[in-house]
Amino acid sequence: MSHITLKASTLLEATLKSLLPAAVSAQCTRNHFLGDRSALQAALKSLFGSSTENSARLLLVSDGVHKLSGDAQANVDDFFKQLCTDSELPFEFLDISSVLSCRPEEVHASVEAVSVLKGKLHQRTPAPVVVLGSGSLTDVVKHTLFELGWSGVPFVVLPTALTVTAFTSHFAVLEESGAKRTRLSRTVDHCLWYAPVLSAAPQAMTRAGYGDLLARFVAYGDWYLGWKLGVAERYDELAFHLMEPFSGHLRRHAGALQQWPVSAEAIEDLAAILAMAGIAMSVSGETTPLSGYEHTISHALDYLHLTSGHALSWHGEQVALASLASAESYDQLLSLEKIDFQNVRPVSEERIKRTITQLLQTAPYFGFEESELTPEQRKSRLEALQPGIAKATLLFTEDYRKKHEKWLRARENITSFEENWISIREHLRMLVIPAAEMQSLIVAAGLPLVPEQTSQPTSALEYRWALRFAPFVRSRVSLADFIFWLGEDPALWATV
Ligand SMILES: [Zn+2]
Repeated sequence: MSHITLKASTLLEATLKSLLPAAVSAQCTRNHFLGDRSALQAALKSLFGSSTENSARLLLVSDGVHKLSGDAQANVDDFFKQLCTDSELPFEFLDISSVLSCRPEEVHASVEAVSVLKGKLHQRTPAPVVVLGSGSLTDVVKHTLFELGWSGVPFVVLPTALTVTAFTSHFAVLEESGAKRTRLSRTVDHCLWYAPVLSAAPQAMTRAGYGDLLARFVAYGDWYLGWKLGVAERYDELAFHLMEPFSGHLRRHAGALQQWPVSAEAIEDLAAILAMAGIAMSVSGETTPLSGYEHTISHALDYLHLTSGHALSWHGEQVALASLASAESYDQLLSLEKIDFQNVRPVSEERIKRTITQLLQTAPYFGFEESELTPEQRKSRLEALQPGIAKATLLFTEDYRKKHEKWLRARENITSFEENWISIREHLRMLVIPAAEMQSLIVAAGLPLVPEQTSQPTSALEYRWALRFAPFVRSRVSLADFIFWLGEDPALWATV
């Protein structure tokens, strides 16, 4: 029977059962797909019992953003509070935007946000936690609970949109001095995928979640390539096999994102695929299976925008666009009959430092305004950003140094990679999809195909800078490094 005839939520359980040992799957987030209020209420009762059995008050955490609940009478926060009252579950409501003293829309996942929330919670007795929220809020809360050592209390998330894989992954992506860093975090025990809320989420957010999933069609190639080069320490294809049964669903639902509200069937399938993506990364012990070159491009763009104080585009929207750049670069790579590192001189550590410093000093922080600024104006505006740039330079250089050392060691055995290129290429072809196919999925989903069309329009200059800076974004190897080590420019391997 073809996978595609099964609902993705059914396939999720079946795939986990067949590929994971029971002890491993017991540590993964349990997923509940709930179609209406009574199903949600029943799930809450089964998780928390009633007030008489469980005296600890639930800590309901929200970011304070007004979100539709699918119930015309109430927003998500009010809807959920009422549900707790009706279920006789005592609760305390915590609006994190007031804890962080920012506007609700400005809550983002940062090391600083974690430290403020930690300060607020550290003297309390651990209580069951329910997050009503976005990926950013989930990352902040799950990392705070991890650092506080709140491991024995139930931790439940009700995603308010299908945006990112944060809801079921053991990792949190947190910003520090403009750089995005992935940290091991607390596991979400239960994820409540509640269809009326997910369907009511803005169309652009659901699309973005879809875009984040497109990384699965390229990122695995990066991991394999890194391992074959001898730079990545380990490699396995468990996450690939966990995700592969859903590739038909993923292709089929691209078009469903053009309608709003998105059909219930597509919502449930996409929720299950996002859930599996988070689990696949968690059981792999790293985010590598779904985060390669394309994510470094997105992180580089976020760095530009965070440093200059501009708003960020949807993460998944940038990831989709960057997945196209990655697929185009793979097309180039896979067309090569021969790989030759011998003629490329290894770059010295000193030179790397200079390159990173120069890229960060000349970065197009001012987006579309860049072309209008005189050199003097630019210099004076840049001056204000220098403290942040200095911190980021240290962080990026320190991280890159680790990868550089591994590359210098790996380079000693590079002839074996060169000799085996044709068979490596064969395997890569199985792991990644051609750019033409990536492009058709992006178009079908209505996601932006050029940087100017992203939710916070990005200039071509910024985008090309992000491609060029991608090797220096983190210590993990990706296709960007491969291109750089070949002595070539990543911005010329992609057509955007
Ligand atoms: Zn992502």
